[in-house]
Parts: sequence; C-alpha cells; structure tokens
Amino acid sequence: MQYRSLGKTNLKVSILGFGASPLGDEFRKTTAPERNSAVHAAIDRGINFFDVSPYYGRTLAEERLGEALVGRRDEVILATKCGRYDIDGFDFSARRVTASIDESLRRLRTDYVDLLQAHDIEFGDYRQIVEETIPALRRIQQSGKARFIGITGLPLKMLRNVAAAGGVDTILSYCRYNLMINDMDEILTPYARENGIGLINASPLHMGILTEQGPPSWHPAPEPVKRAGAKVVELCARRGVRVADVALRYCIEHPYVATTLVGMSRPDHVERNVEGIMKPIDPELLAEIRAVVAPVANITWPSGRPENNDYGESSDRAH
Ligand code: NAD
Repeated sequence: MQYRSLGKTNLKVSILGFGASPLGDEFRKTTAPERNSAVHAAIDRGINFFDVSPYYGRTLAEERLGEALVGRRDEVILATKCGRYDIDGFDFSARRVTASIDESLRRLRTDYVDLLQAHDIEFGDYRQIVEETIPALRRIQQSGKARFIGITGLPLKMLRNVAAAGGVDTILSYCRYNLMINDMDEILTPYARENGIGLINASPLHMGILTEQGPPSWHPAPEPVKRAGAKVVELCARRGVRVADVALRYCIEHPYVATTLVGMSRPDHVERNVEGIMKPIDPELLAEIRAVVAPVANITWPSGRPENNDYGESSDRAH
C-alpha cells in the first residue's frame, strides 16, 4: 500500500480508503462476521483511512465500525461527519454539531476522531456553514475531539467557495472524478492544490454503477448515465477484466487526490480492491471506455438547496 499526505495535515493516508457507508446496510444487508473481517482485512492490507458518518444506516455504520475497531483504533485514521442525520434530516447549527461529535465518539468507542467533516453542506445554508458550522468545528478541534476538520458534498463550486470563505483542512468530493466523470478537476482540484487542502475523492465506482451488481435503487443518476455505466461493465467483462480494478486504478492515479474512498463491507472486495489498484490499465480499453462514456460525460444530478447547486447563486460567490 502507498500513502500520501492529506493536504497540510500531518496525516499520511493510504491511497485506497475504506468507505464505511455499506457497513450501515446502505447497499445491501450485511452480517457482523463479514463486516468485521472486511475491516480487519483492510487494516491488515495497509488501508489506514476509514470514513463514516452518523447518517450511514442512521448511526448503524458508526456503531459497527466502532465494534470492528475495538483493539485496533490506533492503527487507523478515522474520519466521521456531522450535520446530516437522515434523508431529509439536516442540522448544521453549532449546538447540534457540538453534541453530534460526542454521540459519534461514543458509537465509535474512541475519544477523538482524526477528521470531522460537515456532511453534505449543500443541504445547509451557505452563511450558516461558513459563519457558524465551521467555527464550531474549529472549537471541537481545539477541544481535542477532532484533529482536523473538513467539508463534504456533491456541488463542486459550493465546496470550493465554502473552503475559501471558511477555511478547512480537507474537502471530500464524490461522484465527480472517476471513469464516468471528471469535472472535479475543472472546478475544485486547482483550488485545493493551490491552497494545500487535503482532497478526498469518494465513490470511484460511481456509487455502484460501475459494478456487476449495478447501482442501488436509490441511486440519483439519470438513466442514460446508468445505462452507459452498465455498458462499461459489459465491456470490461468482455475484455476479461474486473471493472472495479480499472475504476479504482484510474482514480488512484490522480496526481493530487490523497485517498480514494471505496465503499466496502466484504473481505473479498477488500482483497480484490487492494490487488486491483496494482494493475495498470490497458490504454486501448481506456480509450474504448471513454468512447462509451462520451455521450454522458460530466452529467451529474442536483443535490441540496437549488441556490447551492453548481449553477445556483452561492456557486458564483466571489472567493
Ligand atoms: P462506491 O463507488 O465506492 O461504490 C460502493 C459499492 O461498490 C458498494 O455496493 C460496494 O459493495 C461495491 N463494491 C466495492 N468494491 C467492489 C468490488 N471489488 N466489486 C464489486 N463491487 C464492489 O460508492 P460509495 O460507497 O458511496 O462511496 C465510497 C465511500 O465514500 C462511502 O462509503 C463514504 O464513506 C464516502 N462517501 C461520502 C459522501 C459524502 O460525504 N457526501 C458521499 C459518497 C461517498
């Protein structure tokens, strides 16, 4: 496993990170033995960055990750989130996020997290995130309950603008840089790089679109994107390669992203993914994949308040 610096934090994170949302049964029902072995296999194979949230499985993922990490907490860099608690349950107030970290620490069975992130900030009020949430996160950091702070979300301009106005250590962007899409590099990456902000790229499989089993029923991508993804899966199968191997390798080759977070809950996926990132991509196959994706390239979907979307009001704020 290779490790990279996460921006200006002193954290050295594995290039492949463990996304813990599947531990909360977000994609399918899981069992305790497979969850625990997935987490332990990941640590044994050198994965040291784990990302979770109270939202995943409505606290289940944090509970279960906490259980799996008993006796191994010190071997990992642990990131969780605050502000999102349900599909429509958001509260980015200072009061809520300050209570939230204590609840997360109890579930995770630890007394600090390495990274605390405001979760899906596009569902919040821009000014509140900048003027209330981020200062509250900095106070939590000063208390020692979080070593660093960050933000997560889908719309790239809001992530960039909030980072510029509020000051954060890390940004987690998802479904904006992988085989299906790459607009993260137009809108967010240059800002993160110039300012030494740690960049975390999540959902290299486009939240399940680039898998043999296909996306979960709640997947928000437009149908043409799902159909193009299914064609990429078929194309890889015809060429005798695993689509996840190509998708992960593509993401970890990014020159600035510190870690790519893939969702896992099964030990065999952990083993496959750790091996998958070591296999170079056949350039001809990549060209064919690009051709399949071209008609839907950079198509995304709305998320959060209209004014926070990439073409809404907040997106054009000066920064
Ligand atoms: P993903 O693209 O990583 O896809 C996950 C799905 O792929 C799961 O069903 C998983 O079981 C499956 N999978 C993993 N490896 C596989 C393999 N080798 N073969 C076949 N299937 C495989 O999507 P994700 O889980 O949404 O994203 C990864 C992580 O990033 C999340 O768990 C979460 O930690 C983080 N994330 C954060 C945000 C946010 O903060 N707003 C949003 C999205 C993701």
